[in-house]
Amino acid sequence: MSDTPERDASIRRVLGPDEPELGCEECFDELDRYVELELAGARADEEVPGMRAHFEGCPACREDYLSLRALVESDASG
Ligand SMILES: [Zn+2]
Repeated sequence: MSDTPERDASIRRVLGPDEPELGCEECFDELDRYVELELAGARADEEVPGMRAHFEGCPACREDYLSLRALVESDASG
């Protein structure tokens, strides 16, 4: 039954407790919407579950996110 408890535990650690995590492609698809929601003061993390978890594990997408957000912010104020 539980002959590999350690492996189960490590899988669970990778996937997180119950938080879904997006892949890079889904992340890219939702990035615009996520940034718009966030800048609009909406609950972006609830609208796009797994996004923040993905940024934590994926520096490349976090970079994309940060630069897109900076771009949209400067657009909005200009
Ligand atoms: Zn990614």
